[in-house]
Amino acid sequence: MNGYYAVAIDGPSGSGKSTMARKLAKAFGFLYVDTGAIYRTLGLACSRAGIDRRDAKEVMKILSGLDLQIRYNEAGEQCMLLSGEDVSREIRLPEISLAASDVSAHQEVRSFLLDLQRKFARENDIIMDGRDIGTVVLPDAELKIFLTASPEARARRRLAELLEKGENVRFEEVLRDIIIRDEQDTTRAAAPLRKAADAVEVDSSEMNAEETYGRLCEIIINRFALAPEEKQ
Ligand code: C5P
Repeated sequence: MNGYYAVAIDGPSGSGKSTMARKLAKAFGFLYVDTGAIYRTLGLACSRAGIDRRDAKEVMKILSGLDLQIRYNEAGEQCMLLSGEDVSREIRLPEISLAASDVSAHQEVRSFLLDLQRKFARENDIIMDGRDIGTVVLPDAELKIFLTASPEARARRRLAELLEKGENVRFEEVLRDIIIRDEQDTTRAAAPLRKAADAVEVDSSEMNAEETYGRLCEIIINRFALAPEEKQ
């Protein structure tokens, strides 16, 4: 709408949104914006402060005093800075996933963070992923994708990632966390996770990463008549 392309990718935890969005952004020369990282950084700040994350007032107190910055490093990766400290790795810890889900349930928090997210779309061709990008953050995005997979398929992938990082976790724990987060993210009153009416749904339960990537590339190419720059 403003001369820039916007692709919104929404879907549940572990559906592969971030991996796919990052790869697609590189291939097509778009900026990748991971909105979950913003909620994770706030979740981390609330965790460190030891406040009750279910209390909107307490969370807003932390958020309004937060020095949160989003930077892109030389490799084009999004980095999250909290009072100047790079917390990009720490926000990936499993306990921070639940903290992010808790703090993101508050409407005040979501409204506060809206403009920060929209600013990227005003100034860049972007691929933005999250839960409410196609429904709330960028309702006018030219292309909306809803990427999903069964809870078991998502838990299997997440487990493999965690084991590779050397974390000592079991499948049942990972599946349980995914189910809790699905429940929180889809039933909350504020911007619940749901497919936008005009989104293209891709269910990757039976697809591997390469097949999913191929399908998403096809959708982008068809919608924008764009060829990937294949810069990666
Ligand atoms: O995508 P990721 O798993 O990093 O997101 C962490 C949490 O942040 C999600 O479980 C969800 O509750 C929240 N989130 C959100 N809206 C977004 C992105 C993430 O509510 N646009």
